[in-house]
Amino acid sequence: MGSAFIEGWNFVEVLGEGAYGEVKLAVNDVTNTAVAVKIIRWNGDKQRSADIRKEVCIQKICNHDNIIRMYGTREDATSVYMLLEYASGGELFDRIEPDVGMDPFNAQRLFRQLMDAVSYLFDRGIAHRDLKPENLLFDDYDNLKVADFGLATIFRRQGVERDLDKCCGTYPYVAPEVLAKRPHKAQPADIWSCGVILVAMLAGELPWDQPSVDLVEYKSWTERKSTKPPFNKLDILSLSLLKHILDPNASTRFGIAEIKEHRWYKQRLTKALIRGKSQNNQSSPDPKRFRTLPESGESVISYSQPDMTSRSDSREEMNHNISSDHLASFSQPIDIDNMLLSQIPCTQGSSSQLSQTKMQRLVKRMTRFYVTADRDQAVDDLIRACIQLGYNQKKINAYTFSITTTDRRNSYLAFRVSLLDIDGLLLDFRLSKGDGIEFKRCFTKLKLHLDCLVNDDREPPMLSQC
Ligand code: ATP
Ligand code: MG
Repeated sequence: MGSAFIEGWNFVEVLGEGAYGEVKLAVNDVTNTAVAVKIIRWNGDKQRSADIRKEVCIQKICNHDNIIRMYGTREDATSVYMLLEYASGGELFDRIEPDVGMDPFNAQRLFRQLMDAVSYLFDRGIAHRDLKPENLLFDDYDNLKVADFGLATIFRRQGVERDLDKCCGTYPYVAPEVLAKRPHKAQPADIWSCGVILVAMLAGELPWDQPSVDLVEYKSWTERKSTKPPFNKLDILSLSLLKHILDPNASTRFGIAEIKEHRWYKQRLTKALIRGKSQNNQSSPDPKRFRTLPESGESVISYSQPDMTSRSDSREEMNHNISSDHLASFSQPIDIDNMLLSQIPCTQGSSSQLSQTKMQRLVKRMTRFYVTADRDQAVDDLIRACIQLGYNQKKINAYTFSITTTDRRNSYLAFRVSLLDIDGLLLDFRLSKGDGIEFKRCFTKLKLHLDCLVNDDREPPMLSQC
């Protein structure tokens, strides 16, 4: 961290970790320009190389306000570097209150933006195949941005559409026909995922672990019962729309045009005036499971993402002395090629080097809070809280902890806690791996356990809630 990946540019923050690499924030010393750099490692595998090229190629086609733009790519012997529009506003799950959801006005606004993005993709024959809150990001102005085209594919070329047959995506969001490993139409499968996202936004929980009739939650939905959470939290109009989107029959499922004509979509909602503080709703553990489905799709059950917890230890040398101007917004690049060199060395930098970089910008997220304690006490209390909650914690360095647990669905969850000195001690939590809503749930529990440390007088640096 903190190294110049090309002269004049510095990596200042790890934004996310994926199955094959990392996404880092790079900021230009002079121009204050920010880019997100998605670093995907080659692994010598031909199929993997082809997949990377496909992701790059699809990302290159996209030019829409609700889709992350790509400015360019670089590659060296180890990795491909995708230079992406920086989404400074965090991820969608960050805005979802566990078990509650979000203000319907915002849910509708974001769902409309999602439909615009998906409609754009469909018009170009692109299926995303992994739509979920972890892949829906926000810019500085609270606009939704579809990200992560790692599983995307082309389903229509020169007007000729093909069926898809790969079983890929993420279990709770995947459509039943995809899970069944049948050849299927591309568009209804993405629409289904959007329906699950809408449930998450409106109710703060996912409807099922996977759309399998072996699961009672899904079975009861197929029997058109909506008397149990999350569906019993929804109003009649949203439920009516969801019945058409989460239609198990892909051929009768609503398409984008029909969704846009639905009364819920068209109705004028008003913005809630003041959102309450986190309600800290907690539910008892539920020993069910889901995992991410493989792109190759041969075996649904055998796949899970590699454990990332031991990764990037030395890279986590974040700046711990961030100046108070760190939250000023910065510009997106106009012509990245003028600013980049052809070689991208990726050497490690020290913490002191990093603190010298003048641009220290944090992605704005809500999973952070100021504490009144000093660092030693905060660390002690954090460790104690983790023990009480049964979370495993590992010290990465003096300022960073990795926390792992299984969520209430029994799926693996990993996140990072960084102690940042930004005019006070800030505890910053970032998802590394697992489900975003479950991560938010864990964050809420930890915050509750650290209640006596939380500095209620200080608003954490984050985007005002949309
Ligand atoms: P996975 O396959 O595990 O979903 P991935 O390797 O495909 O991950 P992405 O989903 O593209 O990688 O990125 C991982 C995370 O990095 C995102 O969830 C997000 O938190 C962060 N991220 C990605 N792109 C950007 C961006 N342009 N701006 C800000 N943050 C980003
Ligand atoms: Mg992703």
